[in-house]
Amino acid sequence: MTERTLVVGGGLAGLLAARRHQRAGRRVVLLESADHLGGAIAEIPLAGISVSSGAEAYSIGAGAVDALVAELGLAERIVAPREGLGSRVVSDAGVHRAPAGALLGIPGRPLAADVRAVLGIVGALRAALEPLLPRRVGTRPGATVAEVVGRRLGPRVLERLVAPIVGGVHSADPATLEFAAASAPLARGLAEHGSLVRTVRRLRRGSTASAGTRVHAVAPTMAALPDALAQELLAGGAILRTAAEATGLSRGEGGTGWLLAAGDEELAADHLVLACSPDTARDLLRGAEPQLAAGIPQAPSAAVRLVALALDAPALDAFPSGTGALVAPGTTGIRAKALTHVSAKWEHVQQALRAAHPSARGPHLVRLSYGRPGEELPATEGLTDLALADASRILGTALHRDQVLGSAVIDWDRAMRQALPGHRAALDALTALLAAQPPERPLELVGSWRAGTGIDAIVRAETTLLEGSPS
Ligand SMILES: Cc1cc2nc3c(=O)[nH]c(=O)nc-3n(C[C@H](O)[C@H](O)[C@H](O)COP(=O)(O)OP(=O)(O)OC[C@H]3O[C@@H](n4cnc5c(N)ncnc54)[C@H](O)[C@@H]3O)c2cc1C
Repeated sequence: MTERTLVVGGGLAGLLAARRHQRAGRRVVLLESADHLGGAIAEIPLAGISVSSGAEAYSIGAGAVDALVAELGLAERIVAPREGLGSRVVSDAGVHRAPAGALLGIPGRPLAADVRAVLGIVGALRAALEPLLPRRVGTRPGATVAEVVGRRLGPRVLERLVAPIVGGVHSADPATLEFAAASAPLARGLAEHGSLVRTVRRLRRGSTASAGTRVHAVAPTMAALPDALAQELLAGGAILRTAAEATGLSRGEGGTGWLLAAGDEELAADHLVLACSPDTARDLLRGAEPQLAAGIPQAPSAAVRLVALALDAPALDAFPSGTGALVAPGTTGIRAKALTHVSAKWEHVQQALRAAHPSARGPHLVRLSYGRPGEELPATEGLTDLALADASRILGTALHRDQVLGSAVIDWDRAMRQALPGHRAALDALTALLAAQPPERPLELVGSWRAGTGIDAIVRAETTLLEGSPS
């Protein structure tokens, strides 16, 4: 009889796991509590076009996502950011071009002119000492980003280069984010080569591309990726149910397989994949597998509130902040933690906006994000005005209400996870527990809380599973 796999969660990790199980010849049923598949990869209509409302791009990395997108028949829709614009870092020291050849904000060449411009000569000289420090400085297991970067490269690198990325990209606080979880390759490199600066140079292999440009996207929005996965699954006979929340879990009859409750319904399966948040996975497993449930690390969520603004602003044709900017925490007069100048970064978005607004003089799309750990989100009421004020400061151009062609506020309450100190060690222990799971109750736990934040990390983790490594 054909085996059945139940997948809980229809984000990227769940869809990829479903695809792997389908390819192994199993019947797949996927439950997604939201009314759409894709999780944090989604789109909304705004000002006559479709825009990415969650993830807007993916790291090129070693090409894992490009390969997946091509396999799904979307190769021709892969787009790269407009060349030569770079991005900016904003702090009380001003607006500066993000240094080239950096990783997690850590510069590979601390004395380069673009690094000196952000850090000042004192900060740059302090950072340049890093390769001379003993290897043990900052290498304590479970050390935070603030600890490692502050001790090895000095406070200016931490505050002006690393904190903006940790806040803007990981929605985390460097003082509580585990360094090894923020960047496993950097942590490994530090342990092996004894220097972060040397590791960055090695990993970037002399690349001078500035931060944020080593990405691709799928046109018209990233939602094309989960859409294509869903289409392939449906064509293979999978059942994909939205607005279907898994609410309870128990072992199957005689301890074999699983019984999953979804509202009034009970579904039986041979294999189970939990591709939901770690909290939900813990809650579901508590009764059936208490030891595994207890082994799922606490990874609190950070709420993110985005404001997308379509503007008629010809002054933005000059792309004053390149593809966008990351803002250092505590920067005077700016509440946003990041701004993406979407129509500068992606030519296809600018073209779509121009087509939708033929009479506009200079249609543009910007997206600002709010929500630093420990900080209350700004109220929805009046948020457009706050976003306009922040965008005006970051872009150095006065922007007004009468220029707004359309706006949207998007909330992501539970999508971004904080990897607290000890996260990596807890994940290793969890992997050992999963490897000891009895063969009659096969179980996988997947998702960004385990693989690392971002599309590339999830796709790479899935590739490892495909190649037969333990789950
Ligand atoms: C605003 C934002 C911007 C981002 N930008 C980028 C970017 O540009 N590039 C990048 O690489 N990454 C980006 N990311 C990160 C990336 O989107 C995520 O790491 C990735 O999409 C997470 O996928 P996932 O499958 O692990 O989780 P999710 O996408 O969160 O999927 C989990 C799914 O499980 C469902 N679920 C939960 N509980 C249940 C239940 N009980 N029953 C059924 N279903 C359930 C949820 O509804 C959800 O759909 C961004 C994230 C956010 C929030």
